[in-house]
Amino acid sequence: MRWALEDTPEQAAFREELKSYLAGVLPRGWVEALETRDEEAFARVRRGFDVFEWMATIGRSGYAAPLWPTEHGGLSGEAWTQQVVREELERHRLPIFGLNLLGVGLAGPTIIAHGTEEQKARYLAKILTGEEIWCQLFSEPGAGSDLASLATRAVRDGEEWVVNGQKVWTSIAQLARFGMLLARSDPNVPKHEGLTYFIVDMHATGVEVRPLRQLTGSAEFNEVFFADVRVPDANRVGAAGDGWRCARTTLMNERVALAGLSIDSVSVTGGVRKDPWESALDQVPDRTDPVMRQRLARVFSRQIVKETTAFRSTAARLAGEEPGPEGGVSKVFNAELNQLRTDTIDAAGLSSLAWETGVAGTGTPEEARAGAFLRARANTIEGGTSEVLRNQIAERILGLPRDPDPDRGLSWSETRRTT
Ligand SMILES: Cc1cc2nc3c(=O)[nH]c(=O)nc-3n(C[C@H](O)[C@H](O)[C@H](O)COP(=O)(O)OP(=O)(O)OC[C@H]3O[C@@H](n4cnc5c(N)ncnc54)[C@H](O)[C@@H]3O)c2cc1C
Repeated sequence: MRWALEDTPEQAAFREELKSYLAGVLPRGWVEALETRDEEAFARVRRGFDVFEWMATIGRSGYAAPLWPTEHGGLSGEAWTQQVVREELERHRLPIFGLNLLGVGLAGPTIIAHGTEEQKARYLAKILTGEEIWCQLFSEPGAGSDLASLATRAVRDGEEWVVNGQKVWTSIAQLARFGMLLARSDPNVPKHEGLTYFIVDMHATGVEVRPLRQLTGSAEFNEVFFADVRVPDANRVGAAGDGWRCARTTLMNERVALAGLSIDSVSVTGGVRKDPWESALDQVPDRTDPVMRQRLARVFSRQIVKETTAFRSTAARLAGEEPGPEGGVSKVFNAELNQLRTDTIDAAGLSSLAWETGVAGTGTPEEARAGAFLRARANTIEGGTSEVLRNQIAERILGLPRDPDPDRGLSWSETRRTT
């Protein structure tokens, strides 16, 4: 199921250059195995694939972030260059951001937009090569959808800030060297106005990362505790009190980063996955059962809706348009489709639910299926829940009345919170 858009001569030349770059740097046999659709050969070649080596290689080429300025390791490309790179990486079954989705997709663009020249020089290159992995320290036990109500405190002390508090759901904090931290620097102004954005060294004294084990058995995200952590003022991004504006840049880029990917290729392990529709078919060995056929038909028809929508937004991007409000619609739709698709796991029988080793998503095909099924439950929460996105679609696209805001006009310290 693929619609082909015709490249302009400039786009075709860029695509050809990228394809020959990939053919030159990928292990021998990779491209051939994909071209001949030889899954066994591909699995053999893939066995030696090291995601860190891959990040270092592509990170030096400019293709890892084609929209970033050339002086910061990108290609200063137009919007369509990113689209072409994503298409070719997907076609070559390569991870789009490697392990540094949050660094390349979120932190880098925020530093480029709001950081100092020193911060750009210090952090950007190592984000691209994956030498320094980043995490996003936004959500807290009492602040997720209503992020601006967060309670982690940052208090100025000379040329430093002292940070105390707790974050949760922090993906890959266990691997991260730096974190994007949003903290409350002034509790006596309305909640959006008292926030400051920092770069935090995850190895600093007082930072404690505690893994949270998930349904799948792996621990992809963490709780992060801050006890009198001293952050130099030089690590502040944007002005004190202007953290919400910087955070919006991060969140906007998160939506774009996630919306541009097929949701099931968003894997913090940098996973290289098979076509999702083929995976759904693979797990239904008996396709004669009429009920199962109906379920597959539902998945198939929604997959077509997803692909045509993606096709329209791809066409718009290739024509130079900025991503529009359809990003939120696609996020909701793709998350729910991915759950529907992985729900067909029951067709493969009990072997898919009783895998042998501890971590679903690794090892045998049964483990891989179980991992995809269980991991898909998070799709409707991460990057904004489906309920909250539906509110945004209602208010911003359909023009329905806004939800009442009980905090309007109050300072953060006067609001009712759970923490
Ligand atoms: C896999 C995964 C990875 C994540 N990684 C990170 C990360 O790296 N860094 C980070 O900072 N955060 C991360 N998050 C956190 C994520 O952003 C939050 O889980 C999400 O914003 C929801 O917040 P919450 O969990 O506090 O739920 P809550 O905001 O407490 O929501 C609870 C329920 O209430 C509903 N709800 C809330 N408000 C409304 C409303 N106004 N109208 C209707 N319904 C509403 C929600 O939809 C949800 O069903 C991750 C989450 C997941 C699942």
